[in-house]
Amino acid sequence: MSAQRLLVLGTGGTIAGSASSATGQSYAAGDITLEVMVANIAALDLEVELVARPIAQIGSQDIGWPQWSALHAEIAAAQGDADIAGVIITHGTDTAEETAFLLDLTLDAGMPVVMVGAMRPADAVGSDGIRNLLNAIRVASDPRARDRGVMVVMGDTVFAASDVRKAATSNIDAFKGYPRGPIARVTPSSLDWFAPAHRIGSTKRFPWPEALPRVAILTAGAGMDAMPVQALLGIGCKGIVIAGMGQGNAPRVVLDALADAVRAGVPVVRSSRVDEGMVDRNVEVDDDALGFAAARALGPAKARVLLMLLIASGITDAGAVQAAFDGG
Ligand code: ASP
Repeated sequence: MSAQRLLVLGTGGTIAGSASSATGQSYAAGDITLEVMVANIAALDLEVELVARPIAQIGSQDIGWPQWSALHAEIAAAQGDADIAGVIITHGTDTAEETAFLLDLTLDAGMPVVMVGAMRPADAVGSDGIRNLLNAIRVASDPRARDRGVMVVMGDTVFAASDVRKAATSNIDAFKGYPRGPIARVTPSSLDWFAPAHRIGSTKRFPWPEALPRVAILTAGAGMDAMPVQALLGIGCKGIVIAGMGQGNAPRVVLDALADAVRAGVPVVRSSRVDEGMVDRNVEVDDDALGFAAARALGPAKARVLLMLLIASGITDAGAVQAAFDGG
């Protein structure tokens, strides 16, 4: 049997980072080219063929529309190529959650798409990059990885795009999943799936948009007034995600200003600044009266991605926005 062919799309990040010292803290993300990373893996004589395609060499804090569009186009083309078994995206960890969720919502499931990063630069002591990449190769080339949409592989763990988030600034095991935890455990020599594939036969929820609207995340804080909401409307925000206290709460004056935004045609989604948990409708905030949607299991970063896609698709009505956050 010939070796499986995997497409590797490189965007930079710490996995391609280099440090001035093997023991120091400072480093530059995205210094090492994808070709060098892939050559390092090829030297290990794995039974896979890696096709390297660089998209960018940046820290993922700078990722956005141009790189997302390029990634989407490359993956959509790969999905139509019978010679490609899976796709790997090397990516910074800061915004892995956003890119993974955006692609998951806009691509058909089927071919495994695996995003991978690292918490330590390639030349640091105890670097996790090569191991994470080997783990990603194992996942992307496993036939059981099909029909799970976009996944993120970090720290010997596999997460679904809809669950994953970065939960620590510098630990090797920096990623967590909510509401599901890991969907598999992986090492360079083993792969254990915890449940059957969750996207069998599922097609993309949204077409790839022509552009993404300006949607802001506003974090609520005690003693805050309405001016930040007014400022966001003033710069032409098309949607607002509030990263609220607790179950998506905010001071009364802020809620009133957000209700004004809804009346002006700007959809508002309530999520939580708390790490985990549901934000449900009408618990302490009267969503029915104020016209808000509740983010349910999605944290602020993913809620913003979904709201951008909804607005780009012309969906701004509170009921339809809520249905999308409910998974419809
Ligand atoms: N700032 C880096 C990035 O997101 C951090 C990382 O990759 O871990 O690109």
